[in-house]
Amino acid sequence: MGIIRELPISVVNKIAAGEVVERPASIVKELLENSLDAGATKVSIIVSEGGIREISISDNGSGILPEDLPKAFIRHATSKIRSYEDLFQTVSMGFRGEALAAIASVSSLDLTTKPEGDSAGSHYESVPGSDPVMRDWDGPRGTTIRISNLFKNVPVRQKFLKSPSTEFSHIQSTVLQIALAHPEVTFSLATPERQVLSLPARNSLAGRLVDVYPEFDRNELSEILIEGGELSVNAFVLTPSRIRKDRQNQHLFLNRRWVRHPAFYQAVTSAGHGLIQRDVHLGVWIFLALDPKKVDVNVHPTKKEVRFQEPDRIFALVRRAVTEGIEAFSGASPGRGTP
Ligand code: ADP
Ligand code: MG
Repeated sequence: MGIIRELPISVVNKIAAGEVVERPASIVKELLENSLDAGATKVSIIVSEGGIREISISDNGSGILPEDLPKAFIRHATSKIRSYEDLFQTVSMGFRGEALAAIASVSSLDLTTKPEGDSAGSHYESVPGSDPVMRDWDGPRGTTIRISNLFKNVPVRQKFLKSPSTEFSHIQSTVLQIALAHPEVTFSLATPERQVLSLPARNSLAGRLVDVYPEFDRNELSEILIEGGELSVNAFVLTPSRIRKDRQNQHLFLNRRWVRHPAFYQAVTSAGHGLIQRDVHLGVWIFLALDPKKVDVNVHPTKKEVRFQEPDRIFALVRRAVTEGIEAFSGASPGRGTP
C-alpha cells in the first residue's frame, strides 16, 4: 500500500497561511487591499492589542453577493482574474484568491456585507475546524470583517508574535504604505482607546504625503514627473537637509503597490553621487505607473517583490527623476519640480 496522501483542505490552507499571514499587519494588508479592489472610498480599521486580540476593517466598497460569499473563502477562488494572462492586464491589488482562505484557517472571522442594488446582505461567521454559518443581514453598502483568536490553532505562530505595541507599529506602517499610494481614499486607524490615524481623501499624492508625514513641510519635497507612454515616474524627493543614516524614507510603489527592489536603492544612491554625502540616505518616494505587461507581480505570495522586464530602463528613469529632484533644491534646475 502506498504512503502518499492528499492533505485535507484545512491543512493545505493552514500551510498556505504561513506565507500570507505572518502577523496581524499581514491581515491588515490583505483586507485593505480587498477593500481597495472593491472600489472603497472610505476604510476604517480598528485594532485591539496590536491586532492580536482583534482586527476590524470596514469599507464602503462593492460588497459581496450572497451567492459569492462562500466561494470567497475557497483557496484560489477570486473575482479578479479568469486566466493566467489576466495577470498582465489587470492592476488589482489581489489576484491569488488566497487571503480570505488563509486568514479564516488561522483565526475566527465574522463578516457582514451588503452589495449595491437590491441584492441581500449577508453575515458570515467562521471558526477554524467548524462549518461556517451564513445568514441574511441588512446594513449599509460595503463590507466589515472582524478577525479574532489569531493563531489560536497555530501555537507555533502565536509564539512568534511580538508585543502588542510592536505589532501595532507594523500595522501602522502597513496602513501608511497603502494610504500613500491611494490618496483619494479616506483611511482611519484606531484602537478602542484612541484614534491613531485620520487621513482625509486628497486629490494628489503630495497632499497625502504631507498628511502621512506631518513633520515635513510641502516645500521640503520636490516633485518630479516623467511621463513616457507605458511608463511614468512620479518622484518625490525630500530636501537633502533631512538625510538619514537609514533608508526609512525610501519607498517604491509600482502600480499603487509598495514593492521592494534592490535596484531601486542602488538607483537612489547613485542619483545622489556628488550631490549628497556618502553613507547617508535621501528621503525618496517613487510612484511608478507601468503597463502590467512589463512586469511579473506573481513572484511572492505577498507581492512585495516583482520582476521587471526592463529593469535597467526603469531604474535609469528613477535615477534621473531623483537627480532632478535633488537639483531642484539647489536651484540647479529651475522650473523642474516644485520646491
Ligand atoms: P483575491 O483578493 O486575491 O481575489 P481574497 O481571498 O483576498 O482573494 O478575496 C476573495 C474574493 O472575495 C475577492 O476576489 C473578492 O471578490 C471578494 N472580497 C474580499 N474582500 C472583499 C471586500 N472587502 N469587498 C468586496 N469583495 C471582497
Ligand atoms: Mg485579496
